[in-house]
Amino acid sequence: MNITKQIKVVAKRSSAGLGLFAAEAIKKETWIIEYRGEILTNAEAEAKGGKYLFEINSRKTIDGTTRANTARYINHSCLPNAEPVWHKTGMWIKAKKNISSGEEITYNYGKEYFNAMIKPYGCRCAHCAVKKN
Ligand SMILES: [Zn+2]
Repeated sequence: MNITKQIKVVAKRSSAGLGLFAAEAIKKETWIIEYRGEILTNAEAEAKGGKYLFEINSRKTIDGTTRANTARYINHSCLPNAEPVWHKTGMWIKAKKNISSGEEITYNYGKEYFNAMIKPYGCRCAHCAVKKN
């Protein structure tokens, strides 16, 4: 599959700080946006630290701190509408279901990140917010 079309997205306020929202309807299976950044070894990433480290596998991590990486605004959800998938040369966020224009785009950050960075403070994703009320 070729990624030719630029999907329109917009960063704005969400329940968990800034989030990334669809600015057009996105069909299931669409490659939405690439998680861009410098590829580091996991050791380099650990030494560097930061909020936007995306572990690709047991050896490599993307440092998504760069402003060019709009995908860094995507928040975690326990019931997400998108998922990260490696595609050829990069990590892409792909639609798991049809997403309406105006809907927030989310993916699951994974168990390790969740337990270390989200669970201690309470998850603020829409799915968990509904459960609490
Ligand atoms: Zn949650």
